[in-house]
Formats: sequence, C-alpha cells, structure tokens
Amino acid sequence: MRIGVIGAGILGLAVARRLTQVRPDARVTVLDKEDRIAAHQTGHNSGVAHAGLYYAPGSLKATLCRRGIGLLKEYCQDRGLPYLECGKVVVARSIAELEPLLEIERRATANGVPGLRRLRGGELREIEPHAAGVAALHSPTTAIVDFPAVARAYADDVRVAGGEVRLGFEVTRLRRAGERVVVVAPGEELVFDRLVVCAGLQSDRVARLAGDAPEPAIVPFRGEYYRLRPERADLVRGLIYPVPDPRYPFLGVHFTRRVDGGVDVGPNAVLALAREGYRRSDVRAGDVWETVRLPGFRRMARRHWRTGVSEVYGSAVKAAFAARARSFVPELATHDLAPAPAGVRAQAVDPDGSLVDDFRIGRLGPVVTVRNAPSPAATSSLAIAEYVVDRL
Ligand SMILES: Cc1cc2nc3c(=O)[nH]c(=O)nc-3n(C[C@H](O)[C@H](O)[C@H](O)COP(=O)(O)OP(=O)(O)OC[C@H]3O[C@@H](n4cnc5c(N)ncnc54)[C@H](O)[C@@H]3O)c2cc1C
Repeated sequence: MRIGVIGAGILGLAVARRLTQVRPDARVTVLDKEDRIAAHQTGHNSGVAHAGLYYAPGSLKATLCRRGIGLLKEYCQDRGLPYLECGKVVVARSIAELEPLLEIERRATANGVPGLRRLRGGELREIEPHAAGVAALHSPTTAIVDFPAVARAYADDVRVAGGEVRLGFEVTRLRRAGERVVVVAPGEELVFDRLVVCAGLQSDRVARLAGDAPEPAIVPFRGEYYRLRPERADLVRGLIYPVPDPRYPFLGVHFTRRVDGGVDVGPNAVLALAREGYRRSDVRAGDVWETVRLPGFRRMARRHWRTGVSEVYGSAVKAAFAARARSFVPELATHDLAPAPAGVRAQAVDPDGSLVDDFRIGRLGPVVTVRNAPSPAATSSLAIAEYVVDRL
C-alpha cells in the first residue's frame, strides 16, 4: 500500500510517523512545496504546549490536546528535546473578566487539566512578580517546546522507518484513478492508495483539488510578535496570558518565554493580505480577492469589523500594542519591545461567517483532509495523528 501525506508541517509529519508505526508494510511519502520542514505555521508559533484549559469539554480540541500534551512530553523527554514546564497564569484584568475566567476554570476542570488552581492574595506576585490583575488561574503543567525541532525529529523517525520526505514538491492537481489518487506536481505524477492532506494555510485549496467542498475556507490571520529587550526579559518568568475574548478562538496578546530564554509578546490577529505573508507589506492580489469574494468572510467581516479595526490599529501603532500588554504587566514600556518575526494562522471560516472553533477533519473516499487545525494543534500533533490514521 502506498500512502501520501501532503504537508511537512508538524501534523503531516506526525501522521506519516504514525503510519510507519501501524502500517510497517506501507510505503509512506510526505510531500511539501517548500525546501525545508516546518516552513509555515509550525515554524512561526508561540511554542507553547497547551494543557487544555480553554476548550469545550468533549470537543476534539479538548480530547486531543489532553492526550497530545502527554504524548508530546514523553516524546521530547525520550528524544532529548527541550520541554520546560514553566507554567502559565491567566489573569483577569477587571471584574468583567471574572465570569469568563470562571468559565475557563470550569472547562479546565472538566478537561482534567492537572494542578490547575485559583491564585489567592499575593500568590500571583509570588509566581509572576510583575503581573497584575483582579484574579488569576495557574496551570503549572503548561510548557514551552521547540515545535520545529519536534517536527524535524518526526521526519527523522519517518526516514528511519523507511518512509520518504520529499521537499520542493508542489501539489498542483489531484486526480482519481479508480480507487487510487494521482498527485500531480509540475513535471511529475505520483500514485497513492491513500492520501492525507495536512496543508495548513492551503488546506482548503488542496482539499478542493481532491473534490472536497470549497468551504470552510481558510482566512489567514497574521499574528505579530515583539520580543522583550534582553535586559527586560526578567519581567516574565513563564507564561502570562490575559482572559481571552470568548467570541474568538484566539488567546489574546500574551507573554511567552521561549526555550532560547527570550520572551515574546504577541500575537495579535490581523487579517493577512497574503496567505503566506509574514510582513505587513506582503500582499497577494489573488489571495485577497479569493478571501473577499467568500460569502462566509463577508458575513464574518460585517459581524466583527470593530475588532478588526482595533487589531489593525494595534498592529500599526506600537504604543497601542504595548498598552494592551501593559494592562496585565504594568511595568512594560513601549521601548522594552523589539520587533520579532510574525506568524500566519490558518483559520477556517464556515459559510455562515462563523470562525470554526474545533479541529475539523473529513474524509472523501481514499483522502482524509485536515481542514481546520489551529492552536493547540501543534501540542496535539501526536494525538491528531492517531485520530487521522484511525480514520484512514
Ligand atoms: C502565530 C501562531 C501561534 C501559534 N501558537 C501555538 C502554540 O503556542 N501552541 C500550539 O499548539 N499551536 C500553536 N499554533 C498553531 C500551530 O502552529 C498549528 O496548529 C500547526 O503548526 C499546524 O501544523 P500543520 O502541519 O497543519 O501546518 P503547517 O505547519 O502550516 O504545514 C503545512 C504544510 O503544507 C505545505 N503545503 C501547503 N500546500 C501545499 C501544496 N500544494 N503542495 C505541497 N505542500 C503544500 C506547506 O508548505 C506547509 O509546510 C500557532 C499558530 C500560529 C500561526
């Protein structure tokens, strides 16, 4: 049996690795258009192994994140990859955020997040001396990792097990040939018995090539980061998050210690004018037209334009970005922030304009398509791989 996987991000590689374990007789090939592994979302994220606080109990995000973080911790320990349980606090900045904070506590408890507790009196300052708020939760098992290194280790596992990772292979067409799928790149065709699409920011386009529905379509949201100047990195010991706006699947600008010792502040969520556009100046007219023509996008824009405008303001004006972060780390000054590389999230949007909250994974004959895999999909990668391979 020949099995193809499109995408050498953390999900495609985790799926390929799992396939080599459960189907040692199969020939597994991972294909990616870029010249390196983890070129897109996997290489541009916050590097946080999420413990499962926020997700609706019973959802794929909740179950696969809880299983995934355990598997990821074990994997990193086995492979000698960094996995630092620095812990995280979620801070309510006002009385209005208390009820949403309690909802996070209820969800985290239902999801079985270990060690979660409310911080009382001066406890927030004991854990994070520079954070401030009216109430906070502490998750001691939330960790930081190096996701590109994890993805490279998965790729090594695939190769050692006899699989192949082919870079520079851009899939431009898919064709059915009886029960099989023909994968077409410029000048080359490969035939597979089964195919898994983990194409991240291009997942709707590649799913469409396989004959799947055009929606949910991907709307790209750029997430911009700043880095604390090294002499101010002691403002943060681990991870400090605000209470997220429950209307959105994004967690809000937060402080993230990285495995290299630096501290990032971000990401915001600004509509990206190119699917793989990491700079504000990156614009691809084709991507923009494709987005604005979507009925789902237009409905979403009508509903959320105020938030959109405020995100663009926070993106354009560094002081506004800093003010947001200062609302729970008051000593932060605008000049403490130095620009850092951005990421772009693949966020699926349904035709009714709603942002797809849960992971969405479908099947169409011999093809399994991962259509929505935003955060915490990197944390959940080994569990998502089990789920996908079961469906295959
Ligand atoms: C700003 C940001 C912060 C985040 N923070 C976290 C976090 O802290 N913790 C967490 O768990 N998750 C986080 N995430 C989410 C996480 O990064 C993603 O869920 C995860 O990386 C998705 O992996 P993937 O393999 O599906 O996608 P990707 O890593 O984007 O990989 C998809 C691959 O498909 C390839 N591809 C696309 N089209 C084709 C084609 N036609 N032919 C061949 N190859 C193709 C691309 O080149 C790419 O390499 C964050 C994401 C972002 C953007």
